[in-house]
Amino acid sequence: MPPEPHAILTAYLCFWLAVSGAVLGSFFDCAVSRWAAGEPPFRGRSRCSSCGHTLSASDLVPVFSFLVRRGRCRWCGAKIPAECLAAELAGAASFLCLGAVFGAAPALGQWLIWAALLLALSLADCARQLLPDPLVLGLCVNRLVWVFLLREDIPQAALTALAACAVPAALLCAVLVGEKYTGRELMGGGDIKLLFALALYFTWAQMLLTLLIGCALGLVWALCAKRRRAAVPFGPFLALGAFSTLCFGGPLIAWYIGLF
Ligand SMILES: [Zn+2]
Repeated sequence: MPPEPHAILTAYLCFWLAVSGAVLGSFFDCAVSRWAAGEPPFRGRSRCSSCGHTLSASDLVPVFSFLVRRGRCRWCGAKIPAECLAAELAGAASFLCLGAVFGAAPALGQWLIWAALLLALSLADCARQLLPDPLVLGLCVNRLVWVFLLREDIPQAALTALAACAVPAALLCAVLVGEKYTGRELMGGGDIKLLFALALYFTWAQMLLTLLIGCALGLVWALCAKRRRAAVPFGPFLALGAFSTLCFGGPLIAWYIGLF
């Protein structure tokens, strides 16, 4: 039986989304590594960080260039950081997943920008243990714009967001009390801000699931990490928790709420 036209369209959309996600991941990785080195993130052509050679188009094909050159610079043979490949794969996988979940619906636009900002935030947090405010603000602005573009019921959307904000608000109170008693920082301010920004997109149940997945992944990572004393950035785990909740959390939340 030939595949349905709808399935062909979705597969075509997913392919191009995966390509765009990989290109965006590569771009963000380059910009963030420059930003972490104190250089202007968007100025000048891509160069090898070891020999400084300007990279040509064939060196910059996401994923493929890394695999074909076996993770090494063509000019000096220096190792290309594995984070480059990870950023490209994360961009491709997240965009492909969103395409498969939402199809060619208008809401896809909102979630693609959301995922791109989360990817940039995660890379920045890995590079400098910092979640830049402009990117968190970008998440808030994206949501506000799409509330109008998607013609959502504004009072209803505001009520949902307010209820969802109860989760980071409660966490903030717990963290402040915990920090007062232990005398040390328990959670970065950027992580709390990111949670408030995510609350604009989610219901309170989705926020709880995001936090649960983020904490579980962070804990597993901290236990498995070679350098246990090194600070673990929490932003990427929150982003992964939010992404998993959006794409796969629906049945789990429906099952849990059905218990009551
Ligand atoms: Zn080189």
